[in-house]
Amino acid sequence: METNHIKMLCDIGELDNLFVKSSNLEICINKMVEMVADHIHAAICSIYLYDENTDLLVLKATKGLNPKFVNNLQLKIGEGLVGKALKTRKPVIEKDAKLNKDYKYIPDLFEDMYDAFLAVPLFRGKNKIGVLVVQRKKELSFSQNDLLALRATASQLAIMIENIKYLILLESHGVIANSQVDISNLNFIKGQTSSQGFFYGTAVIFSQTKDLIITDENENIGIDEFNQAVVETELELERLQNLVGEKLSDVASLIFTSQLLMLKDSGFTRGITKKIELGLTPSRAVAEIFNKYKKIFLDSSNEIIQEKVQDLQDLSQRLIDNLSNSKKENEVVKDTIVITRELFPSDLLRLSAENVGGIIMVAGGVTSHISILARSLNIPLVFTDKTELLELPLDNVKILIDGEVGNIYINPGNEIVEKFQERNDARELLSKSDELSILPTKTEDGELVNLMININLLSDLNNIENYKICGVGLYRTEFPFLVRRNFPSEEEQYVIYKKLVEKMKGKIITFRTLDIGGDKVLSYYSFGKEQNPFLGMRSIRFSLSHEEVFKDQLRAILRAGYSENIKIMFPMISSLDDLRKSKSIVEDCIRELKEAGILHNSKPEIGIMVELPSAVVIIDDLANESDFLSIGTNDLIQYTLAVDRTNEKVSHLYTSHHPAVIRSLKKIADSAKQHGIDVSVCGDMGNKEKYLKFFLGIGIKSFSVDSMYISKVKKVCSKIKIEDSKKYAEKMLSYKTVQEVEDFINNG
Ligand code: PEP
Ligand code: MG
Repeated sequence: METNHIKMLCDIGELDNLFVKSSNLEICINKMVEMVADHIHAAICSIYLYDENTDLLVLKATKGLNPKFVNNLQLKIGEGLVGKALKTRKPVIEKDAKLNKDYKYIPDLFEDMYDAFLAVPLFRGKNKIGVLVVQRKKELSFSQNDLLALRATASQLAIMIENIKYLILLESHGVIANSQVDISNLNFIKGQTSSQGFFYGTAVIFSQTKDLIITDENENIGIDEFNQAVVETELELERLQNLVGEKLSDVASLIFTSQLLMLKDSGFTRGITKKIELGLTPSRAVAEIFNKYKKIFLDSSNEIIQEKVQDLQDLSQRLIDNLSNSKKENEVVKDTIVITRELFPSDLLRLSAENVGGIIMVAGGVTSHISILARSLNIPLVFTDKTELLELPLDNVKILIDGEVGNIYINPGNEIVEKFQERNDARELLSKSDELSILPTKTEDGELVNLMININLLSDLNNIENYKICGVGLYRTEFPFLVRRNFPSEEEQYVIYKKLVEKMKGKIITFRTLDIGGDKVLSYYSFGKEQNPFLGMRSIRFSLSHEEVFKDQLRAILRAGYSENIKIMFPMISSLDDLRKSKSIVEDCIRELKEAGILHNSKPEIGIMVELPSAVVIIDDLANESDFLSIGTNDLIQYTLAVDRTNEKVSHLYTSHHPAVIRSLKKIADSAKQHGIDVSVCGDMGNKEKYLKFFLGIGIKSFSVDSMYISKVKKVCSKIKIEDSKKYAEKMLSYKTVQEVEDFINNG
């Protein structure tokens, strides 16, 4: 790529800052077109945005075209070359646009002299965002390099535009439906997981009302004080943004940007100023304008816009607080679970400072940035729609929340508490690293064990800096997808993956492709009503039926993995057909990247997760065409035994040591050995003392475990002799009933 084009990409990357610093949103997209036109030496650069309410493309900014057409030129999807780019999802590049049969002449648009034409559609995953167009004189036609640069730019712009679209499309209207669910049993609630960790303790209900709280209304203040409050609020937000940005660079960018943008939106602040001029106190004026905007946001049919009410309320409350002398009173939350309907990012930071034990959010969206923050702050957080929790009498009640799977237990039995205590102990063990931690993992008789880490977020690596491990055996790439409000683009994923690659330089990094569906639901994508989501459009099935999302991810992985030791792993493979199709898409991506001259890894190892009984049955055929196998015992047990791994009612049937499971494990290990490929365990069985001996005994010496278990697994392995483990596994495999295996494990 030409240096000028690379510079354009860097500058566009910096645009994010520009959004925050600029005082007007229109100015922002105008800056975008100026910048692109300048870098690509185009006489004309225009941005058309897609309006989902009208299903039309609207010219929103232009350098070079007749400015009268801004906001007034509308095109249907497929209309003209611009509409065509969006409809076909492909760029349109023409030396002479007029010769294309789809060209549409628009009088007075001032494009007559500029026939060289290049249009790139803007998408976020499946969501249409708009079209970016550049035009030059005929003799200066666009090159493939220009196309490449514009595509990369478009993908960055799409992220930013998506982020400000809610403000641009303020007039959207619609109705939101709210469903209430009855709960019959308040001993156990299946919520949705949001952040890791668990907490057991007493609880308090956060009594937040939906309305803004005006604590201290001062009649004697006016516009000057309001302007001062705007400045203070802005500084506060910037400080918070920097704080979380440093901690959680992979997922936390832009958390407070929406609020900063609202604050910068002259419509919002001017509206308040006008109300103050009409005689309202500044706090009242903020509340009135908040209510006006809130109605517009809630009336939108776009869920992303509806969610912005949270940001708007946080911002408005902050302004009101900065207008008064009394700050919110601190609640007593130390080592307590907070149950709340609403929570703002700032509240979460405050609760964290006060050492809150855990949080249950009732009727909030799982995708909310609250979850991202909670993770970075190590606060267990579970979402539920059971509003009855807010009425729960809390005297003599203890609650256990499990942020890892999203379970809430009310007055749980000792057995459950002990199970969680065990996990907590493992966590603590990890924090006390000792001499074993810096040595390679070995059995008592000196056999090397290939110990790797499972990660969900880059911050998971922070806990194990002092530990000697061989790499990442499972990177659950779905997390950046789960915490966002729309599909992350190729560029956005690339940035995250690159950070991981740099952190783990020289070590193995296993990227598991997107594993959503089941209990991992994306707020911004409707899976439709599925009777059995775990048997539905999950995992690789989703990727194979959404090839554009799959390819975005694969390209980002291949690019980030350039000259590094990366592995690509497909989840939930059920047939050789799945494997071949997935591999051929990787090959397509490699070819495309090569043709485009983009640096990438052209020889990643490609393997599968063995987690379905069908895969076990045909394991030899799969092993024959895979570079490695990794056993996802969590799902393998669920599907082999037909026991929902998230359903507490059948949790006693979820038996890892069931003869069918352990014989399947042996079959997989034998097959890998026979085909001379690596096999590892990345499911939770791999972190349990009682099963590690079995795995070593059947010849599996590679494990990937969550960070908190690294220390424990090192210790357990160091006390096992391979010869003993072989006998142990042989014996374990000889039993016919679950009970017999259980007795053997417990009593030897
Ligand atoms: C598994 O199924 O064992 C596994 C590691 O994958 P996940 O828990 O992410 O489904
Ligand atoms: Mg799995």
